[in-house]
Amino acid sequence: MSLNIYDLIIIGGGAAGMAAALEAVGQYPEARVAILEKKDALGKKLRATGNGRCNLSNGAIPGVDKTIAFFEDQGIPVRSDDTGRLYPFSESAPGVAETLARRIQTAGIQVFTEAAVVAMTRKGEGFHLKTEDQSYTARRVLLATGGKAGPAYGCSGDGYTLAKSLGHQVTKTLPVLTGVICEDLPKALKGVRVKGRLTLYWEEEPVFVEAGEVQLTDYGISGICVFNLSRYLVYRDERRLSPYTITLDIYPGESFYPFLMKQYDYFGESHCLDLLGGMLKPPLAKWVLSQWGMTGMQPLKDCTPEDFARLEECLHALVMKPSGVMGFKMAQCTAGGIPWDEVNPRTLESRLVPGLYFAGEILDYDGPCGGYNLDYAFRTGRQAAVAALSK
Ligand SMILES: Cc1cc2nc3c(=O)[nH]c(=O)nc-3n(C[C@H](O)[C@H](O)[C@H](O)COP(=O)(O)OP(=O)(O)OC[C@H]3O[C@@H](n4cnc5c(N)ncnc54)[C@H](O)[C@@H]3O)c2cc1C
Repeated sequence: MSLNIYDLIIIGGGAAGMAAALEAVGQYPEARVAILEKKDALGKKLRATGNGRCNLSNGAIPGVDKTIAFFEDQGIPVRSDDTGRLYPFSESAPGVAETLARRIQTAGIQVFTEAAVVAMTRKGEGFHLKTEDQSYTARRVLLATGGKAGPAYGCSGDGYTLAKSLGHQVTKTLPVLTGVICEDLPKALKGVRVKGRLTLYWEEEPVFVEAGEVQLTDYGISGICVFNLSRYLVYRDERRLSPYTITLDIYPGESFYPFLMKQYDYFGESHCLDLLGGMLKPPLAKWVLSQWGMTGMQPLKDCTPEDFARLEECLHALVMKPSGVMGFKMAQCTAGGIPWDEVNPRTLESRLVPGLYFAGEILDYDGPCGGYNLDYAFRTGRQAAVAALSK
């Protein structure tokens, strides 16, 4: 028998592929399992997740106990932060990737790195896979190549091309969990961080609200709440962003008005910029001034109570116009992918190509920040591997 014949070949050694391999040999110790990975090591993206801490799941996900049990079985205890986000006890994303890779090696799973699969064809009831310099045969194949987000970590949509070559469709793919471009923001705001509440409006209708820290950048805005907002922005129609408006409330639920009036009494002979300068970081104060429609040198004594009411409104709804999102290079996730009507949701087997399975980001799923995407990758990887080897 050729050494390159396997019961299951997993294309892609990321979060889904690594979990799949370990679950496969855990449940079917006799199975011949291999991972073909494009990069020079397994789990390159996994190492960068959660700002190096690996937010691997979330207490709010139904069935999260199975993810926790899987990690504990791999020798990786998990703990929650006070928002319900789950992290490895070590808080080390590289540590998680290396531990899983070591377990894979110990379990006798064949790992081929720098082995980008370039072609996949049917061979009898199985599959024939080609990398640049090798051929492999497998009874079952699991496509776990991720999507297009984070090309530096090996993800550039190869899985879509391979799936299409066997007749699958791919729904429109878009970068999500990414920064939002707002060309109208003054460049001087770059580097400012402000806590507040973001609201995304489609015309007059609020379609997304989240509080958090907003980071102002040279292109627009970033931060976890912005990443989550980006999913709603592109879903409507990413080529037609003009009906969208984003507002930032920098003091949600509270009123500045009493404070403003007190300052007004005190600084009666002073200027608008003096008033805002004590409240806000200087570039932010200037931005608020421009939205308020005042010059910094305008004497406060010339302002009317209506002007102060308008300032109060501005502070609760600083307006930005989004003109785009940062692309796949920066995105943490891909929206779109292999459509669900072509996949059996119970087994994750293709409805078009028996023996072909999908897991992770290649599927048409994307979740918010907070451990949802990694949990999904680990969960679907394990689910698909077991289904693939069960027949
Ligand atoms: C910077 C960053 C931080 C993130 N942080 C978090 C977080 O904290 N929590 C969270 O839930 N999510 C996070 N995510 C999202 C999460 O990492 C992904 O959703 C998840 O890794 C997807 O898993 P996957 O296995 O489907 O794909 P990936 O982990 O992307 O793995 C796919 C693998 O397939 C390989 N591959 C691709 N094409 C081929 C080919 N032709 N042949 C062989 N191999 C191939 C790639 O090299 C890659 O190793 C983050 C993403 C990024 C970019």
